[in-house]
Amino acid sequence: MSSSLYLFDIDGTLLSADDLHGRCLVKAAAQMFNVRPNPDKLNYAGMTDRQILTALLEECGVVKGRIAARIQECIEVSHSLFSRSAHQAELVVLPGVQALLTDLKAKSASIGLVTGNIEIIARKKLEIAGLGDFFEHGGFGCESHSHRYELVLSAVRKFQETRAAPEKIFVIGDTVRDIEAAREAKAISVAVATGRAGIEELAAHNPDVLLRDLSNTEEFYLSIDNH
Ligand SMILES: [Mg+2]
Repeated sequence: MSSSLYLFDIDGTLLSADDLHGRCLVKAAAQMFNVRPNPDKLNYAGMTDRQILTALLEECGVVKGRIAARIQECIEVSHSLFSRSAHQAELVVLPGVQALLTDLKAKSASIGLVTGNIEIIARKKLEIAGLGDFFEHGGFGCESHSHRYELVLSAVRKFQETRAAPEKIFVIGDTVRDIEAAREAKAISVAVATGRAGIEELAAHNPDVLLRDLSNTEEFYLSIDNH
């Protein structure tokens, strides 16, 4: 157990969140670039905050160079907007998540995050939801990576700074992008249908493990056992 690393996505996997975070990204882009981004045109499930902001701005016709020059500042503006109204966020811990994390922690497993959220927002959401104490390291959307699998590798590297390389790495997430990131990082993908993607859509992308949700801790262990 201790030689496995479990990397969890947040939105749609650990928590179901309202759209406050997304609204803050749109508002930050609008304020800084004087544009009117339309998030409805974008399927941003599984994208990092950096990717979402870039896509919103490109859709508004902002040129790449202008985006690149101010994207970091834009991420920071979205963070302060979120922090100011975080107390209003409706964050619901998904079924079984608390029990699974508690069990993994009791078994001294390595538990981390891979999320498109920037780290401060990710940590804030988990703290509000009462899950703040489970996660040591992670790969976050504030890092200057353009692919989600690089966030997986980044999280793994951080764990390896203080312990031996894990025998198995599980990437648990609710989107097709999580499945692809796991595959590209040579990790084991555990897809859960608790986000926007339905179970059929996830199945079509051949995750190593596919679960309706995380409500049954024993089922989780049984299903990952053969990998
Ligand atoms: Mg997600």
